Amino acid sequence: MLLDVKSILHTPGKSLSFQFEMDLSGMEFGGRYPVSRPVAVEGSVRNTADVLELELTARTTLDAVCDRCGKAFSQEKEISYGCLLAEELQNEENDEIVVLEDGKADVGDLARTAFVLGMDTKTLCSEDCKGLCPRCGADLNLGPCSCKKEVDPRLAVLAKLLENKENE
Ligand SMILES: [Zn+2]
Ligand SMILES: [Zn+2]
Repeated sequence: MLLDVKSILHTPGKSLSFQFEMDLSGMEFGGRYPVSRPVAVEGSVRNTADVLELELTARTTLDAVCDRCGKAFSQEKEISYGCLLAEELQNEENDEIVVLEDGKADVGDLARTAFVLGMDTKTLCSEDCKGLCPRCGADLNLGPCSCKKEVDPRLAVLAKLLENKENE
């Protein structure tokens, strides 16, 4: 989506707001397509002392799968992005400045890029997800599995004592 900012280009204090939806359902992340729902983008461009500041947020609910336990869950995702817009680049090293083309900024492209870069490389259903038992594959979040733990031989003696005590 192109946003025409010519009307505020030389008017300090003026701003423009925009909103649109993106379809990123075809985007692959780690072999999956988690962005099944539309991504809602909202933002504004403000002329502050003849500098154009763009800010936007993009939010959706992802179809996520936990990397540790494999559970499917819905994950709220919101990213924020900001940059400056300029008619021409004075310092080529500055990558926080986006150059306008014919007074327009491609906010669709900016939002898409920011959203993709904002995707987590690791997805967990919760910070303390216990994952699956490497032996039997049981979901350890639901409780301990029936696999016998490898016990330190010194502790095995203690475990034996406790077991006997429980059986008394
Ligand atoms: Zn998990
Ligand atoms: Zn197990």
